[in-house]
Amino acid sequence: MTRIVVFGSTNMDLVAYARRAPARGETVAGHAFRTIPGGKGANQAVAAARAGGEVALVGAVGSDDFGYRLRDTLEHCSVDTDLLRTVEGPSGTAHIVVDDEGGNSIVVVPGANGTVTSLSHGDEALITGADLLLLQLELPLSAVVDAAAHARRHGVRTVLTPAPAQPLPPELFDATDLLVPNEHEAAVLTGRVDPHAAALALLDVVPEVVVTLGAAGCLYAARGADLLAVPAPRVRAVDTTAAGDTFVGALAVALGEGRPVPDALAWASAAAALSVRREGASTSMPYRAEIEAALGTSEPLEAD
Ligand code: AMP
Repeated sequence: MTRIVVFGSTNMDLVAYARRAPARGETVAGHAFRTIPGGKGANQAVAAARAGGEVALVGAVGSDDFGYRLRDTLEHCSVDTDLLRTVEGPSGTAHIVVDDEGGNSIVVVPGANGTVTSLSHGDEALITGADLLLLQLELPLSAVVDAAAHARRHGVRTVLTPAPAQPLPPELFDATDLLVPNEHEAAVLTGRVDPHAAALALLDVVPEVVVTLGAAGCLYAARGADLLAVPAPRVRAVDTTAAGDTFVGALAVALGEGRPVPDALAWASAAAALSVRREGASTSMPYRAEIEAALGTSEPLEAD
């Protein structure tokens, strides 16, 4: 099994479903509300565990009810939480509006995630023993850089999702093997809105890039190789929350199993497409058997 450590956030997603998101100063009526365990780190961890990885999450939850529920959910999804700290104060929360087209807008409040400013010896030992380290930007940046640099020193492959979008220090690029931005994040990092141009520009700072393009699939770029465009399976999108995290979690498992890049990208695309057919973040992620079944059929993926 692929051993994956995720160094990342846990958030309780507070999700309001409405016809459309409100403009500034406006109130709109919603038609449903849910609390769903999420956070980019936890989402990638659950996606990787469901796709068949052996996964541990390093991060922090708060001492509130959300913290208990977040830990419990991860454990039920077979994610190792031994090094997930519980700290005094609130857990991270994400305040999400999902519109009728399946689009979303999100405010994230870090809470406990903001306390993860350094790595313990235990965290470092866990990372040293992994095949891959998955990172995002919802923990303090200096700790993300430390984790990536530690992995790099020990030959552990690092996969960085540069979200939420922000400029990054050169040390983080230096310690990243594979960067997986969406179109918007790629544009923020490079100043180029064309994803092809952005992917090529990113090869100046990291050896491999996957730019995800929503329903249009993804673009893979590696130094010395041609760009590879991988289409997404056609599905009816119900909720695209965590599609990118599902993609990365599944991709990590496939790469860890030694699958060739085109196969690994097809596998990740199938997993992400399955997740957009269902509501929520961790609740929407497919199990390994579902991904295999989706890839094994020549029929287009149908909406549930
Ligand atoms: P995004 O973060 O929106 O770029 O999405 C990440 C990945 O999820 C994409 O590269 C696709 O593989 C998949 N995905 C997102 N939205 C859709 C969609 N509407 N239909 C099929 N796949 C999707």
